[in-house]
Amino acid sequence: MKELSRFGVKQYPDAVITGFSENSLTIEATVPKTREQKKRERETGVTEPEKRERFTLPCDTVVSAIGSVPNDALYESVKADFPVTHKLGDAVAVGGIPAAIAQAIALAEAL
Ligand SMILES: Cc1cc2nc3c(=O)[nH]c(=O)nc-3n(C[C@H](O)[C@H](O)[C@H](O)COP(=O)(O)OP(=O)(O)OC[C@H]3O[C@@H](n4cnc5c(N)ncnc54)[C@H](O)[C@@H]3O)c2cc1C
Repeated sequence: MKELSRFGVKQYPDAVITGFSENSLTIEATVPKTREQKKRERETGVTEPEKRERFTLPCDTVVSAIGSVPNDALYESVKADFPVTHKLGDAVAVGGIPAAIAQAIALAEAL
């Protein structure tokens, strides 16, 4: 994420594609909070509401990287030589870090 910022890559959090044409994409995204807003929030302890805005992005190519599927190829190949092999985390179902850690703890306790 730091590298993306360093190279000035524009980021549109929670973006939803609302339309596209031959040379542009229209999205609705959360407007990132400014440093001043974040400072104000820290000082007052009051979280300001997020703002959604519509953006039209000129483009000639759209690469879609939406969605993930489990990949258990490593598990399957290890299991061939080690019958007592356990599969957990994203190899079972794509989730998040807390779920993967919880599964690892449960397995460690069971072992
Ligand atoms: C871009 C992105 C952002 C994410 N952001 C968040 C987030 O903010 N919060 C959150 O909770 N989750 C997030 N996730 C999901 C989270 O990363 C995964 O759910 C979590 O890492 C799953 O843990 P895991 O141990 O199952 O798999 P991984 O963390 O993917 O670990 C699998 C490891 O196995 C290694 N490996 C694979 N094949 C082989 C092989 N043949 N030989 C040796 N090593 C191998 C890989 O290199 C990797 O290190 C994000 C995922 C992505 C892709």
